Amino acid sequence: MSGITGELWRRINEKREEYLEILTGLLSFPSVSATGEGMGEAAGRVAEALERVGLRSEVFTDHGGYPVVWGELREERHGTLLIYNHYDVQPPDPLEKWASPPFQPTIRNGRVYARGACDNKGNLAARLCALDLLLDAIGEVPLNIKFLIEGEEEIGSPHLSRFFQNHKELLSSDACLWEMGGASPSGRPLIYLGAKGILYLELHASEKRADLHSSWGAIVRNPAFELVHLLSSIRDRSGRVLIEGFYDDVQTPDSETIALLEETSGFESEVRAIAGEDGLLSNKPAKELLYDLTLMPCINICGIYSGYTGQGSKTVLPSSAFAKLDIRLVPGMRPEKVLELVKNHVERVSGGRVSVVPLDMGYPAARTSPGEPFVELVSKTAESAFNLKPIIYPSAAGSGPMYLVTDILRTPCVAAGIGDHQSNIHAPDESISIENYLRGILHVALIIVNFVPFMRGGVTPYL
Ligand SMILES: [Zn+2]
Repeated sequence: MSGITGELWRRINEKREEYLEILTGLLSFPSVSATGEGMGEAAGRVAEALERVGLRSEVFTDHGGYPVVWGELREERHGTLLIYNHYDVQPPDPLEKWASPPFQPTIRNGRVYARGACDNKGNLAARLCALDLLLDAIGEVPLNIKFLIEGEEEIGSPHLSRFFQNHKELLSSDACLWEMGGASPSGRPLIYLGAKGILYLELHASEKRADLHSSWGAIVRNPAFELVHLLSSIRDRSGRVLIEGFYDDVQTPDSETIALLEETSGFESEVRAIAGEDGLLSNKPAKELLYDLTLMPCINICGIYSGYTGQGSKTVLPSSAFAKLDIRLVPGMRPEKVLELVKNHVERVSGGRVSVVPLDMGYPAARTSPGEPFVELVSKTAESAFNLKPIIYPSAAGSGPMYLVTDILRTPCVAAGIGDHQSNIHAPDESISIENYLRGILHVALIIVNFVPFMRGGVTPYL
């Protein structure tokens, strides 16, 4: 590292303890949107963290639901960067699987362990530290910065679209840095140019009778079989969805997007490590697997329950059966239309014996074109900060309400962050590596100092 990058890196290491303290401060309180644990105080504590690094903060509640924490550093500059994060976390259960308590951040082997370490308080902390770093090193932040930090991402962001409707003006910006991202197992930074949409629903099969002795199964309908029959009609064994019209609106990706899939180094070994040697749905080559993972929709069963599932045997003919499904959407697909297609399919196959209950209305997918200058800026600065060439994926396989930025604000949006393959997000022992955290701070600082020259003139003078 040389020049400004080297100088910033030196200062980050000098302020290492302070930056770890900003991180552990955010990780020391619960903020579980699913159960409400800690949510009463969380927004105020996040606002305090923003003020600490010099941002003006405001807590909004006019959209309904948990508060949005807004932060701003407005210096009337010639560019504005919107930064999206969330302060809510997943429930820490099962608690007994944690090596240290989830809301007492603990450092082991160069990693910080706590619920939210990666998803998403660690990413937020790195971005706050980047501002502190620049104010400390050059006395200013050469860009208008806006922080949007919501409290409902982990429960599907049900009120965020209303916040966007209410505050379109406030949100206006030249580009948006999205909440997440990380490094591949080989340490190369991962950058995502989109996120899938989602629709989450339940299937209910019930009979108007009580549970019966299972001997009645010879002549009486079993809702568990009704449900299993229906589920097997939804998807074939290769993963292809069999619902009529399901793929009709899937947009064909452009050649620039397809070209991103050429970069598959490390991808195949990573997915095999995750899925197990024999765990993949197909033997497709890596490029096609990556295509399916990032550019195609899918339907997944999250849970099935019916009858007796305790220890030992109980002969019973259950009166009801349930399944929970998530459907990941890609650009072109609208959640309300997909819901109609699913309802029609369920009605036709089950003859009305299974009903569809959407848990919320979901949201569509988002995508930013690889040709956007902001993509190149995030990528070039990542290479400087991590000393390795980044891997750019057209979309994350997961979902997020990014469409509000790309489709409502019409602003390019790129995700980059500080996680890695050991981060265990949504699981016990969530963690981040301290090295990645510090490099993440550098990455965001480099995006900020190079933003205006790059977006206006295509140059990165401060690398
Ligand atoms: Zn999450």
